[in-house]
Amino acid sequence: MTKVYLNSLFFNLSLTAKGIIMFFALSLSNINELDSQNKFKVVIDAGHGGKDPGRPNQSGIKEKDIVLKIALDLGKKLENSGDEVIYTRDKDVFLTLRQRAKIANDVDADLFISIHCNAFHNSSVHGSETFVYGLHVSNANFNIAKKENEIIFLDDHYQMDKENYSPTSTESLIGTTLMQEEYLDQSILLASFVQENFTKDLKIKNRGVKQSGFWVLHNTYMPSILIEAGFMTNKKEGDYLNSKKGQAEISNSIYKAIKKYKKAINYYENNIAQSQNSDIVIYKVQIAAGKRKLELKSYNFKGLNDLTRIKQGSLYKYFYSSSKNLTDIKKKKKFARRSGYPNAYIVGFKNGKLFEVD
Ligand SMILES: [Zn+2]
Repeated sequence: MTKVYLNSLFFNLSLTAKGIIMFFALSLSNINELDSQNKFKVVIDAGHGGKDPGRPNQSGIKEKDIVLKIALDLGKKLENSGDEVIYTRDKDVFLTLRQRAKIANDVDADLFISIHCNAFHNSSVHGSETFVYGLHVSNANFNIAKKENEIIFLDDHYQMDKENYSPTSTESLIGTTLMQEEYLDQSILLASFVQENFTKDLKIKNRGVKQSGFWVLHNTYMPSILIEAGFMTNKKEGDYLNSKKGQAEISNSIYKAIKKYKKAINYYENNIAQSQNSDIVIYKVQIAAGKRKLELKSYNFKGLNDLTRIKQGSLYKYFYSSSKNLTDIKKKKKFARRSGYPNAYIVGFKNGKLFEVD
């Protein structure tokens, strides 16, 4: 039900956006612009900070310090591999959950990754778990969510938050927006890669991928996960989390999970890149455009396969098929129109430039 509703909404958006698309197409953006706009953007959110230390352990180690080090380490690795990194904080400062979500939404990130460490009164408990936003909030998770969400009350804008948010009510955690639901599949995919790597590479006990009502996950409009890397209250794990080696290994595991995720969602638009340094024209059928980033799955595009996506400004453009042969692509356009995209039209890519054909 949800999917059908979202898709029809998207389709309407794409019709009204056609005027804007024409403008973009005619202004012949060059591929360098596309490249920078297409850079994979990761917002890394080190939990807590400033007056909010997070969870302490017996040795006086603070969660906020450990997660910041892991976050910076992860960021460096991603930047070195060509991704764009935005930190919600890169030093010991306090940020509200609202500010964290806003940073991620404002830069229109591809991923939001919040890093935390766990604590429990029983020191034998250990292991890592990764959360995605979920409506199926179990009681246990609900309590964790409350603990993380309590931070909202350290907020200077307490009054504003109080109006919209009460951490004791299940309704406010669940909210009404379907946004995060839309990204649930991707969030779970990434979360499972993170957990898999922690277990395989680092032998950290796998406590699983879980759904929870974390405010910050609910209010980011992109695939989002919250990692509880391990328990600071467990002697062995706490020491590991606090060690340079531990932090480097954990950030490396997350880094590898992000790379695997990118491959899995087929982020790279190979044949567009191919046209960059040659005179060959590659034709495609533009079927839709919109502000929302959709996974390139046939169920999102009325059963069509062979899909590509680029981003121009704040718009995502979606293309069906590709060919060097104009006659071929005209057939594909007909097929796309018959499949439910009556306004589909042909575009070409030459020397990295996008132009409209008909
Ligand atoms: Zn935390």
